[in-house]
Parts: sequence; structure tokens; C-alpha cells
Amino acid sequence: MTCPGCERQYDVFMDLVIRKSLIYPMGASGTGAYAATHVLGCSHGCRFPCYAFLMMQRFGKVASYEEWCRPRLVANTMQLAQKELPRLRGKAHYVHLSFATDAFMYRHPEVTSLTLQLMRLINSYDIPVHTLTKGIIPTEALQLSHENRFGITLVSIDEGFRKRYEPGTAPYAERVAGLRRAHDLGFHCFVNMEPYPTPNIWQQDIVPLLGAVSFADEIRLGQLNYNDAVKQYPGWRAFYRGTGALARDWCASQGIAYEGISAADVRRASRAAADPESLFDSKSET
Ligand code: SF4
Repeated sequence: MTCPGCERQYDVFMDLVIRKSLIYPMGASGTGAYAATHVLGCSHGCRFPCYAFLMMQRFGKVASYEEWCRPRLVANTMQLAQKELPRLRGKAHYVHLSFATDAFMYRHPEVTSLTLQLMRLINSYDIPVHTLTKGIIPTEALQLSHENRFGITLVSIDEGFRKRYEPGTAPYAERVAGLRRAHDLGFHCFVNMEPYPTPNIWQQDIVPLLGAVSFADEIRLGQLNYNDAVKQYPGWRAFYRGTGALARDWCASQGIAYEGISAADVRRASRAAADPESLFDSKSET
């Protein structure tokens, strides 16, 4: 099978899982924001750690990091979407793919292929899709509705960081190039700089990172949670406040919308609830 993202050839041997439902509202009710998770697990294997993995492990959905890194496609994705989408027409402002896996999982053409099928179906109901990835946005996705939006997560441009903390993801240059292609075709593009590391985890300057995506329409900066090392950094709160203010002011100088740390208007999705099925809800991970 040819990967629509990087155009390399891969064998397909992904396990399957069945779900009872697919699309759910996210955040406060009435916002029209929905999300879907059509894959269980993620081969990107982020070691920040990944919040989705922590929750899946906590609720017994995956036994280990190794199992999390062997993703399983939701086999009945299209059937569920066909059943659930009619009642969302005129109600959903967009569907986000995805909060608990990666829509364009690197070197997993079967995931990208399913994502593209799902995007086409969602768009056929006049509902835009927002995708977020640490993989490569495929060119096929850029042939769909121009109401769709594309995002990448990017917290460093140091490949040493990627190899240590995001071992299965696409190299930064390829990731940024994919978003750049979307921008050049007129799509709204956003960059999630979350979870941003403290200097005791990775020493870096945020300005070159911002500069790498200076074409983006929107940048969101968020701190690293669920990692004790953050609070071992003296003045970690001040570090985040200062970095947020720097990013906010830099974005203002470039005409880029900014959200997150030190922004005047911070909007965040609510935490996942205790029901294991809701593990697919709310928290941005990819
Ligand atoms: S943080 Fe996102 S990309 Fe990384 S393993 Fe978790 S779901 Fe995958």
C-alpha cells in the first residue's frame, strides 16, 4: 500500500476494534464543536507522556506502552459515521480528527486512508473537518473542502528532541512542509505548540520555532503536564508565563492569532470524564 502522506510503500497488518459510537461533542455544549476517534492507539509513542495513553492504560484499554504503539483501526468507522452524521447536519460547526490518536499517523497509510474516507463523508454533510497531526498532511486531503482546517503539533525543531520524545512521528521539516502546502493552497492552518518543555527537559529558544511556522494563521502554546520534571525546574511558572508572553507578542507582530499561555482569552477543552468510552473525548493529544 502507498502512504498518501509520504508516498512510500508499506505492508498493511493493522488490528481492528469495534466501537459503539464515533462522533461526540467536545467542550461546552452548544459550541458546535465535535470530535471523532477512529483509531485506538498511536504509533507515534510520545513520551511527554501522552495523556491519551495514560488514560487508556488507567482504564484498562491498553496494557502497556508497546500495545499503545500498535494502533487498531475502528473497523466500523464508516458505518457509525453514516448513522451519526445526519443528525449533526446544521448543528456541528466542525468535527476534529482527532484528540486521542493521530489522523495522519506517520508511516501508517491505512490510518491516513481511513481518515480521508471519513473526511469525505463528513464534508458531504456540509460539515468541515479540522485535522491535527504529527505526521504529514497528505495531498489528497488538500483536494477536499476548503472549509477544512489543518494543524500540526510542533514543540521543537530540534530532531534530537523528536527522536527522544516523539520517536514515531514525522521529521519536523516534512511535518512543516505538509502544513505549508495546505497554507499555499489557501487553507486555514494552525500550529499546536503543546506540550512545550521546560529548559531542564529540553533547552531551546522558542523564537526559531515560531519562525519555522510564520505562515500559520493561528498558534497555540500550552505547557507540559503529567511530567514531574516540569516542577523540578526552578521558576517553572515564571518560565511559562514569560515564554507565553514572548510567543503572544511575536504572533501579534506577525499578524498571527495566538491562544494559550499568557493570552488574554484562553479557551481549553474540558478534561475527560471517568467513563472509559469518554477517553476518546476532549483532550488534545496529537
Ligand atoms: S501525543 Fe498524540 S501523537 Fe503522540 S502518541 Fe499521543 S496521540 Fe499519538
